[in-house]
Amino acid sequence: MEKVYIFGHKNPDTDSITSSIVLENLERKLGNENVKAYKLGNVNKETKFVLDYFNVQEPETLENLEENANVMLVDHNSFTQSSDGIENANILKVIDHHCISGFETKLPLYYLAEPVGCTETILYKLYRLNNVEIDPKLAGLMVSAIISDTLLLKSPTCTEDDVKVAKELAKIAGIDLEGYGMEMLKAGTDLSDFTAEELIEIDSKKIESNGVNIQVAQVNTASIEEVMKDQEELENAMNKFIEENNIDIFMLLVTDIINSDSEAIVLGNRVDIAEKAFDRKVNNNRIFLEGVVSRKKQVFPVLMENT
Ligand code: MG
Ligand code: MG
Ligand code: MG
Repeated sequence: MEKVYIFGHKNPDTDSITSSIVLENLERKLGNENVKAYKLGNVNKETKFVLDYFNVQEPETLENLEENANVMLVDHNSFTQSSDGIENANILKVIDHHCISGFETKLPLYYLAEPVGCTETILYKLYRLNNVEIDPKLAGLMVSAIISDTLLLKSPTCTEDDVKVAKELAKIAGIDLEGYGMEMLKAGTDLSDFTAEELIEIDSKKIESNGVNIQVAQVNTASIEEVMKDQEELENAMNKFIEENNIDIFMLLVTDIINSDSEAIVLGNRVDIAEKAFDRKVNNNRIFLEGVVSRKKQVFPVLMENT
């Protein structure tokens, strides 16, 4: 068979990077030798911590997807979050845990989606189903992604399956879930070497809803105020991004990983959507969102409902 590219979404997070590696390994174990994991952009600090910790090399960056290339997508399906040229690719497989949006194919495909907290939870089940062993390194990558996506099993996206699988994987990896998890999440809150322009793109996703372009970026922190010290610079970077990318509403979620709350900076000509969605006024371009940590479950759906 021809070459197969495996990749997660743009502005990759730990789930997108590790799931690409983990699916590549599974495919190889099942005899599909031509698969290769790629990334769509630089790895963030949390992911770098994970790869260093388990001594795994990061995937190469996908520079150019040729027409009719064979691809497998993990941790996303929406074309707005995928590689340039995805419209003309041959999508063989999707393993994902997001809503299906802005996605279509010309040919039949293998599509596995579950409403769980992390792609790795689904991949774990696939390993078990195929009787393929998970070695400690891979288990380490997988449990890290679950910790990342569920904020250490505290996000409302976290299911019983995620908890069970995370505990099992932590055992195989030989790590203490709580201790390792906090250390890993903290590594991702070190934003010191990023410019404001970089920071708003580390973990940033776009969704289109009823013709409205919604961009939501998220950064984790141990102190919201620490991040908000640079509010003015962040707003300048966001406004520039809005202009260049034709965005109607841009929310930067600053998520407190200790208290599980977020505060967002909200800009654009459709700030009213956020005000309606969360039933409160944006004040000084900011809105406090108690108990909100999940963009996927607590932010995108309510914004989309109000477009
Ligand atoms: Mg992701
Ligand atoms: Mg994910
Ligand atoms: Mg995420």
